[in-house]
Amino acid sequence: VLGIGDDCAVFRAPPGQDLVFTTDLLLEDVHFLRGDASPEFLGRKTLTRGLSDIAAMGARPRFCLLSLAVPEWAADRWIEQYFQGVLELGVPLAGGDLARAAKMAADIVVCGSVPRGQALRRDTARAGDAIFVSGPLGAAASQGYRHLGTPRLKLGQALRRRATACIDLSDGLSLDLHRLAEPSGLAAEIGPPPVFPGATLEQALDGGEDYELLFTADPRRIPKRWGTRIGTMRKGKAGTVLLDGRPLPPRGYDHFARPRSRP
Ligand SMILES: [Mg+2]
Repeated sequence: VLGIGDDCAVFRAPPGQDLVFTTDLLLEDVHFLRGDASPEFLGRKTLTRGLSDIAAMGARPRFCLLSLAVPEWAADRWIEQYFQGVLELGVPLAGGDLARAAKMAADIVVCGSVPRGQALRRDTARAGDAIFVSGPLGAAASQGYRHLGTPRLKLGQALRRRATACIDLSDGLSLDLHRLAEPSGLAAEIGPPPVFPGATLEQALDGGEDYELLFTADPRRIPKRWGTRIGTMRKGKAGTVLLDGRPLPPRGYDHFARPRSRP
């Protein structure tokens, strides 16, 4: 109803829809190093992670809010190009804030909508469901995280009422599958996932930033082109992931569990 420029933006919730929200930080020296990426790339990266979360819920993005702390080294042109990167993804920017700070920091909120009661969740997989990934994994890790995947928004929406559970692959298959299996109260048995050309199996399992979808479903309900079946959900210790019968530890990227540098 009312976009950027007033004290608040006004969004009229569409009738019969649930609103979904996600928020993300992009911090200099934590998520990227100065000079390591172009401002457009960082702009796209700021929004991509949130859009991938919206896709994982089966939702359609509606708007985003972005607060940006800008260091001295970022000239006006840098800021302009950064915002171009954000806006390239086609989500209306409904508001935000801008301040000077010692290091660059971006804090983004993305809102999406989904028909009431149809949001895809992580905790609703059933024993016997097939496990799918929507594409090959390891592209970002094999390219020093200079490759940015495309959020699978159309697929997420198509999976509503077909997938039983869904999560996006932002932190690595080994960790994200654990994050789906555990709240569902199930174990997961998989074989090797499809690996992006040039990536290693380890990068496909643990690399992260793929932004593909990982979902569970009755395989008869999933057209072939939507993904590759990699395994089956089973009764067992909640959160256990077995790769070719052997335990696969959740080694993906977790800021709090295991600090590790990422270019
Ligand atoms: Mg996510």
